[in-house]
Amino acid sequence: MVGTELLLGEIIDTNSAYLSEKLAEMGVDLYYVTKVGDNQNRIADLVRQACQRADLVITSGGLGPTSDDLTKEAVAQAFELELVLCRKALKAIEERFHSMHATMSDNNRRQAYLPAGARALPNPKGTAPGVLLELPEDKAVIMLPGVPIELKAIMDGSVIPYLKERTANGGGGIIGSRVLRFYGLGESTLESVISDLIAAQTNPTIAPYAGSGEVRVRITAKAKDELEAAQLIDIVEEELLARLDEYFYGYGDEGMEVVVARLLSAKKQTLATAESCTGGLISHMLTNVPGSSAFYMQGVVTYSNTAKARVLGVAPKLIEDHGAVSEEVARAMAVGVREWAGTDIGVSVTGIAGPGGGTETKPVGLVYFGLSSAQGVVVERRQFAGDRLQVKERTALAVLDLVRRHLLQRV
Ligand code: ATP
Repeated sequence: MVGTELLLGEIIDTNSAYLSEKLAEMGVDLYYVTKVGDNQNRIADLVRQACQRADLVITSGGLGPTSDDLTKEAVAQAFELELVLCRKALKAIEERFHSMHATMSDNNRRQAYLPAGARALPNPKGTAPGVLLELPEDKAVIMLPGVPIELKAIMDGSVIPYLKERTANGGGGIIGSRVLRFYGLGESTLESVISDLIAAQTNPTIAPYAGSGEVRVRITAKAKDELEAAQLIDIVEEELLARLDEYFYGYGDEGMEVVVARLLSAKKQTLATAESCTGGLISHMLTNVPGSSAFYMQGVVTYSNTAKARVLGVAPKLIEDHGAVSEEVARAMAVGVREWAGTDIGVSVTGIAGPGGGTETKPVGLVYFGLSSAQGVVVERRQFAGDRLQVKERTALAVLDLVRRHLLQRV
């Protein structure tokens, strides 16, 4: 990862998280992630060293038009290569400027110079092309721009297909992987339930890892082609689900909100939310899903007791008798919001996110959440650990999971 801003902590290195995940998905073993500032000699040293300890080196950043963008110069220096003009890259940059009605500077022309023998990887989202430099002994350096959207576009368009082909040509066939997502049990519990499968794994391999408030399992198979990989993965998936079906909720990048959104749309159900301690997070998560207006009607943050009474019709006596964080209030809020919004489902949440406000009987992290529908009202109680934000996030996930279970008729 190239960039002085990364070393100063001014920008967060999301590119390595993204690349690590993509490489893991393809079954590529990642050995090192290193950061270096915008210094040509140090970048050159690092790339040389990286090529000694791995077959493939991917760099991010330093491909821009300014004088502190030095990655290509450094890679050329590392392998004693000239920088030469790539006409195809120049044409692509010229066309991009033309389409934006912008004037191209000499510095932008610099972006079309690549280490001799390298080829440009088209950048559909920016001017700096990615660069692929194949080296002796089947080694390669791939240079990508630092801007995340550009890096991702070049990964999808060029690097992933290249890596897949490289693996196949190496005689190893292809590597396929699938991620299963589980909610409602911890990583160690999940591991203990499938420990014999993990111990016996060869191909496919099974790797559990903890996400925030959930556990994911990556199944990775080596096979001659995609179809064979999918078949091998199907067998392992079946074995896992035979033991863990009640906790399984989805695949890959799709979070709980996406799964819930899909179920709501498929079942033509509408939803409204009444949130207290989550402060609108559930609403935020649901409205992050494109097309949410089809099922998400309205939401309210009733943080104070007065608001719970005024907006949702929660009887002040109920709050007085049981406290705002109670099963009774969660129930009344769920019923109230469903009536207020006229939706099929009303959900509510009330809890103590902390760090203050807890008591012996109602400690920080205690939450009650409810779901009201034509079938009646369900209220659940959870005790979460973590800081204020974690409690909010874990609560939102739990509420969405309740909606999911309701739609699958599991509550
Ligand atoms: P450009 O052609 O746009 O200048 P570049 O390849 O030169 O791209 P940098 O100048 O190193 O890339 O970084 C451009 C911007 O991309 C940074 O200011 C930062 O916002 C973002 N960026 C760079 N590296 C990373 C990273 N590792 N993770 C997340 N964002 C990054």
